[in-house]
Amino acid sequence: MSTPKIVILGAGYGGMMTATRLQKQMGANEAEVTLVNKHNYHYQTTWLHEPAAGTLHHDRTRIAIEDVIDKNKVKFVQDTVVEIKKDEQKVILKNGELTYDYLVIGLGFEPETFGIKGLKENAFSIRSVNSVRKIREHIEYQFASYNNDKEKQEERLTFIVGGAGFSGIEFIGELADRVPELCHEFDIDREKVRVINVEAAPTILPGFDQELVDYAKTLLESKGIEFKLGTMIKECKEDGVVLSKDDQLEEIKANTVVWTGGVRGNSILEKSGFEAMRGRIKVEKDLRAPGFDNVFVVGDCALIINEEIDRPYPPTAQIAIQQSYTCSHNLLALIRGGHLESFNYSSKGTVASLGKGEAIGKVGNKHLYGGTASAMKKIIDNRYLFLLGGPSLVLKKGKLKLF
Ligand code: FAD
Ligand code: NAD
Repeated sequence: MSTPKIVILGAGYGGMMTATRLQKQMGANEAEVTLVNKHNYHYQTTWLHEPAAGTLHHDRTRIAIEDVIDKNKVKFVQDTVVEIKKDEQKVILKNGELTYDYLVIGLGFEPETFGIKGLKENAFSIRSVNSVRKIREHIEYQFASYNNDKEKQEERLTFIVGGAGFSGIEFIGELADRVPELCHEFDIDREKVRVINVEAAPTILPGFDQELVDYAKTLLESKGIEFKLGTMIKECKEDGVVLSKDDQLEEIKANTVVWTGGVRGNSILEKSGFEAMRGRIKVEKDLRAPGFDNVFVVGDCALIINEEIDRPYPPTAQIAIQQSYTCSHNLLALIRGGHLESFNYSSKGTVASLGKGEAIGKVGNKHLYGGTASAMKKIIDNRYLFLLGGPSLVLKKGKLKLF
């Protein structure tokens, strides 16, 4: 019998962890594992709000795949997935194609723009190392240009963040720290700069505990952030946004709009003919795609219903990491002829950063604030690095200064 071929698409949390779990657990020549990713590095999406604002260098968020992968057990292919031909068990890449016996789809998320006019064309999004490098450069350019313009343009110093979910709030927290530094560097009065967070719901962080939400809002307002709540972005133009609140329209001129208004699964899934809801495949309990016994889906491409509230679990790195354990176990069970296990999510809590030394969090029923929550966030980040690459990766890339 020939060696089974496992192909893993995407080196995000789900894909990378599945690959490293397999390399630890597989015997020699038990399977031929291939990991495919656009870049030769894995990035920590959960840190991207920091390099986007310029408070952390983007190299701190990325890890060379070859530093983590055991080349004797996992082959790495740097290429872009174009389509999955599921009936032919084939993946079409930009520069070639791969066949598989077993497939793991971990291609991550895309911004969900809900068809809002001009968003795709004119707004930035926090999605990858490339996308956040562009945001940081763009913001700095606005500051650098302001005092060079013959006629001062306020829109250069107006920054709109669309959406006050966790991504929007974490990014706003970093911007709140970065803006005074940029003002100092480019001789600009802080009063001239507007950072506006627009949220359609009546509150920031909808659904999160009120006390934590109040803490976050008060802290960010004290750093000069303006919130426009119960307000929708209706349109994004080259030079600003059109907002709607209580049927009243307002236009704000701004050279920078960052969209953090929601995510969807990778559009390659729909393009490849999988049935998907907002780009996410509703997987079986063992993480396989319905009707495809050899295709697993992990991370933001997978949709799993939380039966307690009959709503999907939010797409997070936490769930993607946990799925990689079930996925790698089930792949080996299929190859060895064992029993497939069901995925059971166990939430370890949520912590959201609010800039340097500040965060809010909920672990069990306990609320965390300020420095304690911020230290907890760094411990979570370091724990992931430990799971992925052991103590050496924590020492190389970790956030070692907790307070
Ligand atoms: P991703 O991390 O999105 O990785 C997908 C990988 O696939 C990438 O390497 C990408 O380059 C690659 N890829 C994509 N398309 C192709 C293609 N066509 N060909 C080849 N390769 C491709 N979650 C938490 O649990 N905790 C947090 O604190 C947290 N903070 C966040 C902060 C921000 C700013 C954001 C945006 C998200 C945050 N999340 C957090 C959510 C979390 O980052 C995602 O749920 C998680 O990244 C999903 O992991 P994934 O493995 O599905 O894919
Ligand atoms: P989200 O869907 O959680 O939040 C998007 C926000 O944008 C919502 O509050 C929504 O009401 C708002 N919105 C939508 N359309 C709008 C419009 N037209 N105008 C104004 N506001 C609008 O998306 P996200 O924040 O990008 O998070 C994506 C996923 O990543 C979530 O599952 C989240 O839990 C996870 N995440 C977790 C953390 C953390 O744990 N620290 C951090 C970031 C992201």
